This record gives sequence, C-alpha cells and structure tokens, in this order.
Amino acid sequence: MVVKVIRCPSCGEILELTDMYEGMEIHCDLCGLVMIVRGDELLVLDTNEAYPIESLVYEEEKEEFEEEFDEEEEYYDYDYED
Ligand SMILES: [Zn+2]
Repeated sequence: MVVKVIRCPSCGEILELTDMYEGMEIHCDLCGLVMIVRGDELLVLDTNEAYPIESLVYEEEKEEFEEEFDEEEEYYDYDYED
C-alpha cells in the first residue's frame, strides 16, 4: 500500500499515512486516538470499535499547498513629538 489519507473517526482530523501494514499503530495528533490496523479495519484501542478503512479514507483532489510565509521585517515608525 502506498500513502493513504484517512480521517480520524473521533475528531475528523486528516491523518496522512506514509505506510500501512497489519498491526501498525496510528496516532491522531489532535485528539490522541490510537488505532491499530487490523486487516481492512482500524481498531480503536479506546473503544474497541473497528472501522472499515475504506470508510475512513479521505479522498481529496491533489492540491498544492504553497505555504510561503514571507515574513519581512516590518519597521514601525512611531513619531513621538516632544
Ligand atoms: Zn482525532
């Protein structure tokens, strides 16, 4: 399998997985949910609920996120008049 993007079943956070294999642990950074890949399902450790991976796959059109932060130093001129 290649890169999969899934949504956390708990909070909906988008999780990018660079790998997926049997027994792999997936942690959601946002809510801390821990899931384990079990066959075609993700088993949520907290609740023991299993979600079909298919149902969690988040498909999006490939977008190029260009996050360029041009942080130019800004100088604020304060004119103090005596
Ligand atoms: Zn989550």
